[in-house]
Amino acid sequence: MTLTRCFSNLSRWIVIGIVALVLLGCANEPRTSTRFELTAEYVCGNNLRQIAQAKRYWIVDNPNGPYPHPDFFIGPGLYLPAMPKCPSGGTYNPGGRYSAARCSFHGTRSDVRKAQREADSQQFGE
Ligand SMILES: [Zn+2]
Repeated sequence: MTLTRCFSNLSRWIVIGIVALVLLGCANEPRTSTRFELTAEYVCGNNLRQIAQAKRYWIVDNPNGPYPHPDFFIGPGLYLPAMPKCPSGGTYNPGGRYSAARCSFHGTRSDVRKAQREADSQQFGE
């Protein structure tokens, strides 16, 4: 076996070793769904923000209008083109003129923010 061939074999094993370590590291990630749920919460919080914003715009344009039914401000050509989908399968209730939009799974946007703050303080010990 020549020196260069030996070296290329060695470097191949190093690469295989690094890949194996990376894969093992992924396999050892905690199996809790915290990461996914944080992302789902984030997406849901953003959806709630969009719904609330569409409702607010409709209310500004219809200050003396009826109860803000989602059909008035969510739909093609309206303030929000379509009702967003909660990644955790919750359904959205846009709420009334003075109440917050709510997800049946995550709650209101302030619930989402509170849960994220709690998760952050658990993760980073703040
Ligand atoms: Zn949700």
